[in-house]
Amino acid sequence: MQPFIYCASASRVIFGSGSVGRAPDEIDRLAAKRVFVIGTPSALGPVSPVLAQLGARVAGIFDRPEPHVPAGLAEEARRTAQALGADACLVIGGGSAIGLGKAVALTSGLPLIVVPTTYAGSEMTSIYGITDGGVKRTGRDPRVLPRTVLYDPTLTMSLPSNLSASSGMNAIAHCVEALYAQDGNPVISLMAEEGIRALAQALPGLVACPNDENARTLALYGAWLAGTSLGSTTMALHHKACHVLGGSFDLPHAEMHSVVLPHAAHYNREAAPGAMNRVARALGSDEGPAGLFELAQRLQLPRSLASLGMPESGLLNAAQQITAAPYPNPAPLSFDGVLALLQAAWSGVAPGTVT
Ligand code: NAD
Repeated sequence: MQPFIYCASASRVIFGSGSVGRAPDEIDRLAAKRVFVIGTPSALGPVSPVLAQLGARVAGIFDRPEPHVPAGLAEEARRTAQALGADACLVIGGGSAIGLGKAVALTSGLPLIVVPTTYAGSEMTSIYGITDGGVKRTGRDPRVLPRTVLYDPTLTMSLPSNLSASSGMNAIAHCVEALYAQDGNPVISLMAEEGIRALAQALPGLVACPNDENARTLALYGAWLAGTSLGSTTMALHHKACHVLGGSFDLPHAEMHSVVLPHAAHYNREAAPGAMNRVARALGSDEGPAGLFELAQRLQLPRSLASLGMPESGLLNAAQQITAAPYPNPAPLSFDGVLALLQAAWSGVAPGTVT
């Protein structure tokens, strides 16, 4: 066994149907008196009884999160929270709302209570990202790690099938890269493998029947494991590629992860055989990368970067960016190898097919 360092997350996690109803108690635990609410509009409706229960303790509601957290919006939200005298922030929604909450926490120090409604996993990490002048700056800071996370599967019922599927593949990507991360450890590997298993079992059922509460619960459990895996390790080639593609070509976040993941896993298959065995075992497949590709197909997700709007002329530039400042990765990065990966992902062929 390799030597390792394990650091447990400082977040308190409450999981289960109806757990959003515990938000007032969690606010009490923080001794907060005035809560600034940040929410994804489509996720706020079902939470209105809880907000009504909080009554005057709701200092204000900010329901305009945007993808990639524009710096101006983050500053506006922080000023609003400050003007309202907020002493805590309650975030309800997907990664965009949580990202905005983190940006407010970063500069104000307000503690965060988060109720995630997608499977993106940001709620379990101390990673923040803010976009200024077209450049997304990311970093880690303990101030943005939520103090409490309330995982309530009933709030994910309204997430449409296609978003559930792509968001779930985004979560599986966190698990796959945690399994071969340079700073991985045995506990996180257990969580990551179980996360893939839970999501792969739940997602096909959700696509067929988005109101299946058991499948919703299993998927959110997998998303928690995936978010924890993401927050505890350093991501590799797959996340670097998605960071570059998302930043330079404004591709849809979760779908892009789904397209790139089988190809990034294929790139690392020989350098990380143990991780690939665990991916295959969790998917119930003979082979990890092929199993990921098949799962995405079964979920009827877009198969190619071309179908997401990526111009073929951008592949060279993307390969240059990925290899110029790489994330640590089990297989050494070569420009030609990364370009071949991107070409395969762009055209939508199965991983390992020469294009
Ligand atoms: P998102 O928050 O933009 O949500 C995607 C869509 O789902 C939106 O249209 C939203 O309105 C809708 N939605 C959310 N919850 C819903 C619900 N319950 N019912 C119906 N619709 C709902 O996107 P996302 O995929 O959740 O998050 C992506 C963002 O999160 C990216 O900017 C990414 O960089 C960031 N992220 C950050 C971290 C981190 O650790 N910092 C981790 C993962 C993702």
